Order: sequence, then structure tokens, then C-alpha cells
Amino acid sequence: MNKLLESQIKLLQSYIDEGNNIVFFGGAGVSTESGIPDFRSASGIFTNNLSAESIISHDYFFYNPEGFYKFYKDKMMYLDAKPNICHQKLAQLEENRKHITVITQNIDGLHQMAGSRNVVELHGSIHRNYCTKCGAFYDAKFIKESNGVPICTKCGAIVKPDVVLYGEPLREESINRAIEALEQADVLIVGGTSLKVYPAASFIHFFKGNKKVYINMENDQLGDDFLYIQAKLGDVFSKIEVK
Ligand code: NAD
Repeated sequence: MNKLLESQIKLLQSYIDEGNNIVFFGGAGVSTESGIPDFRSASGIFTNNLSAESIISHDYFFYNPEGFYKFYKDKMMYLDAKPNICHQKLAQLEENRKHITVITQNIDGLHQMAGSRNVVELHGSIHRNYCTKCGAFYDAKFIKESNGVPICTKCGAIVKPDVVLYGEPLREESINRAIEALEQADVLIVGGTSLKVYPAASFIHFFKGNKKVYINMENDQLGDDFLYIQAKLGDVFSKIEVK
């Protein structure tokens, strides 16, 4: 490991050790090392599917549910994926009585699978699905294994993922929880997100402290007030000690 990265991780470790209230604000880059592609890096979904943003949208879901589900099941549902070292270390910090809130834009449920409990899912989850008519619940396996468009076994209507599609508003409860956590935090770690999806990206401005870290493998700085660590999350979190 180069000397700069080593000293940056040391500083991050001191922020974590001294922090009383930490927010980790993450995105798709948190799960790439679990084998789930992100949207915007070189191997991301957007590079290969220019219309991804329009396919996983509210309008497209109702206009062409077959097209929506074909893409969604293939590109957004990785049911065999397992938490990686970043998910695990965040969960261990919480387990070790650190006050830590994970605010995620991800929909894969890997933070909870790793053991994190204090998680705000800004964009919902592939693991919750509801009938659009009677509200019956279905798990991710039901959706993934359904033939074409998943249909409610109780009333025959279309089942919709509890995922915030492009063109849909965020849940008020998640917005409030995220803002409250950020306002009360004394350390902010932003990781694996391009911060291009709004309004989620704007929430980090509710953080009032001065210990701000941005971890991203691409050179994509947020400003001089952030400690910018250009590295893979796995390379950084594998060095973080849970004390
Ligand atoms: P994004 O694809 O726009 O950006 C990901 C960023 O993470 C990129 O800047 C990339 O360089 C960086 N990155 C990738 N792997 C990394 C790693 N191992 N270490 C460090 N940095 C890494 O993702 P976004 O900002 O989260 O926005 C995409 C939207 O798509 C979100 O709303 C999210 O809900 C959704 N999405 C979710 C998943 C998932 O649930 N796993 C996957 C793809 C997209």
C-alpha cells in the first residue's frame, strides 16, 4: 500500500475511533465487490445499457411491465450476492456499540445481511414487493422466479417492487431519518457513490461537522473540506480496526 493511502486510512481510523455519531452514506460502489455492478463506473450498467434510467422508471413500469421486469430481474436482482468487507466492518462497528447510521442508496439488502440494523434505505429494497391492488407481500425469490411479470396469487394484479423508481418520490420517513442522522453526526463517510442521483445526493449537505471523508475508486473529488481517499472500499475497510 502506498504511503499516502496508509496515512489517509490512519486518519479515517482516528475519525472512527473518536466519533460519537457516525454516518456512512453509500451507493452502488459499496456492493461492486460483492459482484453487483454499479451504474456509472467503467463496467457499470449505464455504460452497457444507455436507457437503464428510463427502463427502471415509474412510467416504464406501467407502460411496459414485461420490459421492465426483464431488465430488473437480470440487472438489479443478485440474490446470491453476499456482503463484502465494507458491509461487514460497518456492521461490526455497530455491533461494537458505535453509534453508526448507514444511509444507503442501494436496494440489495446487503447491509442488513451483514448485520447492520440502523440502516436507512433511501431507494427501497428488492426484498419487499407488494401487489398493486390488494397489497399482498412477496419476497425477492418470488419475483426472480416468476415467469415474466409477477402476478399476485391472491387477486391477479401486478406485483411491484418496493423500490423508488426514477420519477417516483422518496418515502418521507426515509428522508426524515436520513436528515436527522446527518444533522446529529460528527463524522461523515461517503463511499461508492457518484452522487448523481437526486434528491439523495443533496442530503449530505445536512451534515454540519468537519470530519468528512469521501472514498471512491475514481478520481471524483467533492471539495477541499473532504478527506478524499481514492481507493476501493474493500482495500480501505479491510484495514479498519473495530475497537
Ligand atoms: P453509481 O453507479 O452512480 O456510482 C458508483 C460509484 O462508486 C462510482 O463513482 C464508482 O467509481 C464507485 N465505485 C464502484 N466500485 C467501487 C469500489 N469497490 N470502491 C470504491 N468506489 C467504487 O452509483 P450511485 O451513486 O449509488 O447511484 C446509482 C443508483 O442506482 C442508486 O440510486 C442505487 O439505488 C442504484 N443501484 C443500486 C445497486 C445496488 O443496490 N447494489 C446497484 C446499481 C445501482
